[in-house]
Amino acid sequence: MPGKTISSAAPLSRDEVRLREELRADVQKLAGEIGERNMWHYAQLNAAADFIESSFSRAGLHPRRDSYDLRGQVCHNIEAEIRGTRPEVIVIGAHYDSVFGSPGANDNGSGAAALLALVRRFAGKATEHTVRFVAFVNEEPPYFLSDEMGSFIYAGRCKARGDRVEAMISLETIGYFSDAPDSQTYPSPGLGIFYPKVGNFIGFVGNVHSRALLRRVITLFRKHAKIPSEGAALPSFIPGVSWSDQRSFWKHGYPGIMVTDTAPFRYPYYHSANDTPDKLDYNRFTLVVSGMEKVIEDLDKL
Ligand SMILES: [Zn+2]
Repeated sequence: MPGKTISSAAPLSRDEVRLREELRADVQKLAGEIGERNMWHYAQLNAAADFIESSFSRAGLHPRRDSYDLRGQVCHNIEAEIRGTRPEVIVIGAHYDSVFGSPGANDNGSGAAALLALVRRFAGKATEHTVRFVAFVNEEPPYFLSDEMGSFIYAGRCKARGDRVEAMISLETIGYFSDAPDSQTYPSPGLGIFYPKVGNFIGFVGNVHSRALLRRVITLFRKHAKIPSEGAALPSFIPGVSWSDQRSFWKHGYPGIMVTDTAPFRYPYYHSANDTPDKLDYNRFTLVVSGMEKVIEDLDKL
């Protein structure tokens, strides 16, 4: 779904300036202060879990740890739920671990910070759907695309309980933008014919099965957001399409999409020691998150 491209991002409102500073502080906390967080840096992984849990509490919600044992070490997904008047569930997720050798500012400090900011904005609201904000552990290799991912465990437990997850949205690496020519590449050369070659947009990606959800979300995002967007429902074998926690939900029969700046197809510091907080474009990152706030509000009413 190639979109109309407006040349640059719009200025921020006062609320958005506040949002930007929250995002900046939380990326700094996760990637600048805590730093690399994964099973090789287990104390830091748990420090990140504690930080997320206390942030959910400070927002006024009662977080729950969804824990599992991974080869003798306990790992935690952190969930904050707003119980709705309807049984259907919307899951907003972001992984909080970082890949080995990287402080993970953009991947995925950006998604985790967005999750925290969204929780602060929804905590006091009544929703129709049950809305769950979930920070997932162990998205990165060697758990990547396996049944040991935090999101895979979580989605499996949803399935076992009979939860009616209507939509899962994965916030995955959403903070880097560039206006340079040819700053955007694609996993399949054919896609470059249809989509922009400048990495100034936010991407929405789903598998073919999640096409209806993808269209709904993009339509809502374009109604509100002040930043260009592109979207595609693609077969999951195309590299990148399944590369985050939405795949774990597909595997359990639920629709899911990923919001992403496209990570390796744009971000020069992807999975490196240089994925640090200073690399992010906080203005455009903010417009993605403020747009997603509206998307979730509207999605809840559908
Ligand atoms: Zn990631």
